[in-house]
Amino acid sequence: MRDQSLIAGVGNAYSDEILHAARMSPFKLTSSLTEQEVRGLYQALRSTLTEAVERSRGVAAGRLKAEKKSGLRVHGRTGEPCPVCGDTIREVSFADSSLQYCATCQTGGKPLADRRLSRLLK
Ligand SMILES: [Zn+2]
Repeated sequence: MRDQSLIAGVGNAYSDEILHAARMSPFKLTSSLTEQEVRGLYQALRSTLTEAVERSRGVAAGRLKAEKKSGLRVHGRTGEPCPVCGDTIREVSFADSSLQYCATCQTGGKPLADRRLSRLLK
C-alpha cells in the first residue's frame, strides 16, 4: 500500500493509521477497490492527516514525536488493544519494515501471516 501512488508521500506510520481508519486490509490492492472504497480511503487520509496537524499545533518541537505517537491508534502498538474494537493489534514484518493493523477492523477478523499468505487470502 505504501508503495502506491494514491497515498504516495504518506509515511509508514500514517499509512497504518489511514488504513485502520478506513477499516481496510493493508494488502488490498488499489486496482481492486470500488469507487466507494476509494472515497472512504481518501476521507480517512484527509481526516487522519488533519487530526495529526491539529494535534501538533502548539506542541513544542521537542515533544512533537511523543505527541505524534500518542495520536497513533495502531502503528507501533503491536500487542495492545485496538482503541476501536478491543482486538489485539497485529504486526506483519517485511525485510526492512513492518506494519501494524487490527484484524477485526480491517481484514474481517482474519490475521495476515505474511505478504505471500495474505495474497492467497485476498
Ligand atoms: Zn479494531
